[in-house]
Amino acid sequence: SRGTVLVTGGAGYVGSHCCQAFVKAGWNVVVFDNLSRGWRDFVRWGPLIEGDILDADALARAFAEVKPDAVAHFAALAYVGESVDDPGLYYRTNACGTLNLLEAMVAAGVPRLVFSSTCATYGEPQLMPIGEDCPQSPVNPYGWSKLIVERMLADFDRAHGLKSVALRYFNAAGADPGGAIGERHAPETHLIPLAIRAAERGGDFALTVFGDDFATPDGTCIRDYIHVADLAEAHLAALAYLVKGGATTALNLGTGQGHSVRQVIDTVARLAGRLVRHSVGSRRVGDPPELVADPSRAAAVLGWQARRPGLDAILGDALAWHERERQRQGTAV
Ligand code: UDP
Repeated sequence: SRGTVLVTGGAGYVGSHCCQAFVKAGWNVVVFDNLSRGWRDFVRWGPLIEGDILDADALARAFAEVKPDAVAHFAALAYVGESVDDPGLYYRTNACGTLNLLEAMVAAGVPRLVFSSTCATYGEPQLMPIGEDCPQSPVNPYGWSKLIVERMLADFDRAHGLKSVALRYFNAAGADPGGAIGERHAPETHLIPLAIRAAERGGDFALTVFGDDFATPDGTCIRDYIHVADLAEAHLAALAYLVKGGATTALNLGTGQGHSVRQVIDTVARLAGRLVRHSVGSRRVGDPPELVADPSRAAAVLGWQARRPGLDAILGDALAWHERERQRQGTAV
């Protein structure tokens, strides 16, 4: 074994896919998750410690028991709208929770961390694609709660030698190509699962497109959708980088390609062979017209790049998983 990774939030969407990749590559994994947003059936690659990052004693006990060589930290809340309505919840969970985790790591002498950050830390940049040196100026409490952690990481390195890689995800999408796990949120707010729901349910459910009057070629927002299996490989590369003694850094994880909401809808319709019922509604507050990564620094530092770019690969795996999920629930249409 390469050692043990304690994976907070390992029962969630990105965390569970990373557990799978870590174990495939020879790491042992222990998941620490309170199951508030995660799923017990997504914990398949190691034991689950049910615990909360807001509970410092539970964290200390987990470190004493697991003695991890590294931590991958996914446990967080990630709904932009909810963060606007309840900023305290976001600062407490994402910022205070991570502070607890960092202090537990220092106390236990665990020297390396891979952290889930986000392109939401950039806010609404004008220049595309977005490089890591783009000014970080979040436009909602979610983005701020993640940016504050990036600040903590720099300071904890300086004071305690804790080495970290903050990975700024663009739009995580898709599902395990093997079909074991996928994107499940309750409530679901994300474009791709909702477009798939509209395809599956036919007339029963319509997607709302949040604005089609943006200054983009088809008027809908452009995002950099990155396959969750590619994200997982980047986390693995970040762990390897830290084990080799790499310096604390922050890296964008995207494909460098942007796709519009309309392109997502059209591709789901084509791959599913069904209509994706939708109507055009108003813009969502804080939605920039375009967010596309410059992923070249991750390529240079980690030797990583997305191997499954393009909507067909991402949406094909997403559709296959949703189909399985529907069969499991016995509500196949
Ligand atoms: N979107 C949409 N209708 C929906 C959900 C999302 O038009 O019901 C758009 C949203 O405005 C954005 C893109 O789809 O341009 C991706 O949104 P999502 O919530 O999936 O991810 P985000 O970019 O907010 O992280």
